[in-house]
Amino acid sequence: MNHRLLAAAIVLQFCCAAAWCADALRFRGADYVSLKDLTGEGFLNGTTELTHWGRHIVIALPDRDLIVENGGDRIRDRDGMVHHFERPILVDGEEWFVPVEPCAPLFGYEIVTTDPLVLAADDKRLELGRRDPFGDYPFARVERLRPEWRAARLTRSLEVSARRGRYARSVALPGDTVLVVRRTVWLDGVPWLVVTIDDEMLESFLVEADRLAASSTGIDVEATRIARLFAAARALAKNERAIRHGPRDRLADSVALTSDLCWSLRPCESRLYDMVAERAAAGRTASVTQFVTGRWMQQYPFALDDLLRREDRGDYHQTWGLHSWDHPKSGNFMNAWYPASLRGDTLAQEKLMLEWGIAPGIAYRFPGLIHDKTRLETIIDLALVPVDCESWVSGMRTNRPPTRIDARGGSILLVHGNGNEPGGVERFADWSVANPEFDFAPLALFLDPESAMRDAEAEAVLVVD
Ligand SMILES: [Zn+2]
Repeated sequence: MNHRLLAAAIVLQFCCAAAWCADALRFRGADYVSLKDLTGEGFLNGTTELTHWGRHIVIALPDRDLIVENGGDRIRDRDGMVHHFERPILVDGEEWFVPVEPCAPLFGYEIVTTDPLVLAADDKRLELGRRDPFGDYPFARVERLRPEWRAARLTRSLEVSARRGRYARSVALPGDTVLVVRRTVWLDGVPWLVVTIDDEMLESFLVEADRLAASSTGIDVEATRIARLFAAARALAKNERAIRHGPRDRLADSVALTSDLCWSLRPCESRLYDMVAERAAAGRTASVTQFVTGRWMQQYPFALDDLLRREDRGDYHQTWGLHSWDHPKSGNFMNAWYPASLRGDTLAQEKLMLEWGIAPGIAYRFPGLIHDKTRLETIIDLALVPVDCESWVSGMRTNRPPTRIDARGGSILLVHGNGNEPGGVERFADWSVANPEFDFAPLALFLDPESAMRDAEAEAVLVVD
């Protein structure tokens, strides 16, 4: 045993004899402590309760009350002062982890030493060992992310990255493949591109800019199928609409399962993904699109890692769409944002996905499905396709159009995988059992230029702009 280990062992024995012991969680350079350990009988001796539909945690301590608000990015103290966290609280299953340093004055404890990490309040001590489960995760340094809009045809086979990071995976694209280049970005100091294949699967990949330049020739982007898809999205936007369903003639036995990962404080719905995996294991088509938010990614590293691991294992087919970084949950939602702020929010979301090694997909879902013409066009100008749903499954039995209706062939379904609508997951489970003949087909098949344009033209007859 070397000296460091010996010292650590002595500290551990000492701490367990003299004070309350627990694990601190280290994530991306900061220490977090479980709220359960912090407010337990052994240390601050308080209680916690999740309130406001899972948006707040009320913390009652013997000498003060605190409220973690807005899903964990701020805390209100006993004087009513709101303190915004630079690093929001983390969620792992049923446990919440608060950042150790900024919480000290709010909770009324002191940091006695940082190595080992020891907290003190009155005559009690909390000795924290460190757990760093993401210490070796190769997060990318992401710089100079900006939109791009051009197309290239491969002159020979080219290997592209479906994922970088812990679950890195490459795919060899054959010569003649047409790619639409949607972003340029520097990853770890090297120029890369986000590209999307110009076919009906619309898969997005990462490729080094120099390698694509050496293996392709430029073509007219306006002649691509993706350009036709954006033309249809623009026609729908005139009536403040986004895509809600796919071509029913071709997708009579298929629905698209999409899962929104808005910020939350509840455990992630792993049973939803287990269900999709079971469908895949039974030999059926089983795909899910994660519409992910920055706030969720920042607060749920364990759940995110779990989803990436499921994908890596091949449990089911999974794609990644955008659902904003900030995700307002009231008022006019994104309609209250200036277009420049909406653009900034969108690129911030993509930057975080790229740090985790995820190629940002082409689909964008507005928070609350709320969008006007200006915001829809802002998103389309970023080479993203706005996608609503036809069936918001949690309200399916209320049959309230346009989104709370029964699913049918060609429907895009919305289920919340973030724990905020457990009723939706139950209904989806019931529906899934009652409709075993349906495939959960990839969302891309529902983003069809001709079907969307037909909808837009039908709407245009009803609304004169
Ligand atoms: Zn949402």
